[in-house]
Amino acid sequence: MITVSSLLDNEWYERYRKISKLNIRSSIYDVTNRCNLRCRGCFFFSSGEHKAAKEEMDILKWERFIEKEKDRGVNLAILIGGEPTLCLDRVEAFYKRLPTFCATNGLIKVPRDRFPDMMVGISLWGDEQDEKLLRGQDCFAISSKNYEGDEYTYYLYTITPRQLGKTERIIKKIRDIGVKVHMQLLSNDESVDGFSWRDGELVDICAEMDEMLDHYPDTVISSRYYHKVITSGNMLDRDFGWLECPSVTETFDNRNPKPKRLIHFIRWASDLKTMHRCCTSETRDCTTCKDGAAYMSWVMVNKKAHIRTAEDLKNWIEVYEMFAKLYRFIPW
Ligand code: SF4
Ligand code: SF4
Repeated sequence: MITVSSLLDNEWYERYRKISKLNIRSSIYDVTNRCNLRCRGCFFFSSGEHKAAKEEMDILKWERFIEKEKDRGVNLAILIGGEPTLCLDRVEAFYKRLPTFCATNGLIKVPRDRFPDMMVGISLWGDEQDEKLLRGQDCFAISSKNYEGDEYTYYLYTITPRQLGKTERIIKKIRDIGVKVHMQLLSNDESVDGFSWRDGELVDICAEMDEMLDHYPDTVISSRYYHKVITSGNMLDRDFGWLECPSVTETFDNRNPKPKRLIHFIRWASDLKTMHRCCTSETRDCTTCKDGAAYMSWVMVNKKAHIRTAEDLKNWIEVYEMFAKLYRFIPW
């Protein structure tokens, strides 16, 4: 029988041992329905999720809800929106009770005296031109000033097809302000002209992402296997999509047979009662989905399938480590 220890030498086995203890149970929370931007291609607004529920305004209800989530076994709260920093009292209610990750566009600085070690992920869509076109302004110009040198922050760099051949300049800009970066791909939910991936481009961007990881290993938090899986949509000869997706809200999951999935995962709307279908757009066609978190979770929940060859298992370990670093379960 093939076992983990039969496939790994001591060094890799130690790496495996460290992550296998973590038992991460995440859920996602819409902190608010409002945002200080309206990006073209935002999954939240384009799918009407901002209208799915009326925002709960009573902070005591948020606190009680979070306590219940903790009792449900959640040990990682991922805060999205809208823009969570518009409601710092709600963010604080999470932060005081659970390991918390806050996704933000970075225009408002999370005050570090109030949230000293909260993980912050800043969205960055392509370069200055892409951001102006898709988001209405060069957000990096502001967010980089707010978060320069912040050791609990990374950029979530959403690569657009127009970034082909241009990612190095962005990675260097991020390196120069002393922040880490993780990469994912644009899904173009609002079909903006020129921003959908064409044949061949995904192969090219995979090679470019590999190159960035090789050249900037102290800045880029990633793994070659993750690049391969997200760009090809394929893992161990299986195709990503609705039938495989791990990030489907538990109560929406009527799939039969059930795929491997995130245990007890729920994406909650801001009324604290309504649930959304999955970690991203309610209306997105799963065949076009390039959500980075869904892809890395897909690898992570399929550990058994990777206990096949040493290479497969090491790939799995690297993706798990990447996730654990991004949410600060292990150091960078
Ligand atoms: S900043 Fe985020 S939530 Fe706000 S519109 Fe842009 S993508 Fe949507
Ligand atoms: S849109 Fe993406 S994250 Fe949502 S169910 Fe489909 S594949 Fe999963």
